[in-house]
Amino acid sequence: MLTHDKWDEKRIASFMNNQPDYLDVLKWAYQEYQDEIVYACSFGVEGIVLIDLISKVNKEAKIIFLDTGLHFPETYELIEEVKNRYPSLKINMIKPKNSLEDQAKWYGEELWKHNPNLCCHMRKVVPLQEGLADAKAWISGLRREQSLSRSKTEYINKDDKFQKIKVCPLIHWTSEDIMTYIQLNKLPYNPLHDKGYPSIGCAPCTKPVSDQKDSRAGRWAGLSKTECGLHES
Ligand code: SF4
Repeated sequence: MLTHDKWDEKRIASFMNNQPDYLDVLKWAYQEYQDEIVYACSFGVEGIVLIDLISKVNKEAKIIFLDTGLHFPETYELIEEVKNRYPSLKINMIKPKNSLEDQAKWYGEELWKHNPNLCCHMRKVVPLQEGLADAKAWISGLRREQSLSRSKTEYINKDDKFQKIKVCPLIHWTSEDIMTYIQLNKLPYNPLHDKGYPSIGCAPCTKPVSDQKDSRAGRWAGLSKTECGLHES
């Protein structure tokens, strides 16, 4: 099994020689890791596409959602809809150890305003570490066109941060590909996408934008922060 501590460039090169597409990558991932791979889904549009694709490869796949307690009601409603549509998928909501009340008591009210990196660390990074504890690999919906920092993402990545293998089947998909897939397959998606939110995270850190060409616009608006810390080395 390809693992973080047994990273094998030659093996990956040989897999890539066959010019795999997104579905080949998903099939490889579930053959390789069986029950030891988890999809960390944010339930954005990429997430909905990946859930549909994953359900075709492994109907009982493990999916985790980092439930910070700060998501939009529309996001929680969408998750319920997805659970009903794919009842055999194992969707697990992972919550941080600290409640929002404790966080406010220890670090001040609205931590996301004065220290969003710490807030993301406690409410997303640490819970993901816990969610991946029994896994050798995880799946992410990163796409190369989303941002400069994501532009070099490969199908199979050595993830030093979580000491896992990170599999990203959608790296070559454009925003248009994603929306076309959703429409063709009549999949549900977060209605906020139609109200000016190209990317949807926690409510306090996600704003609507007038120009939706940048698929990450509106996240941590006004700050230099562009990532929650899950994809940084
Ligand atoms: Fe906190 Fe904002 Fe990060 Fe959510 S996105 S965990 S509210 S800083």
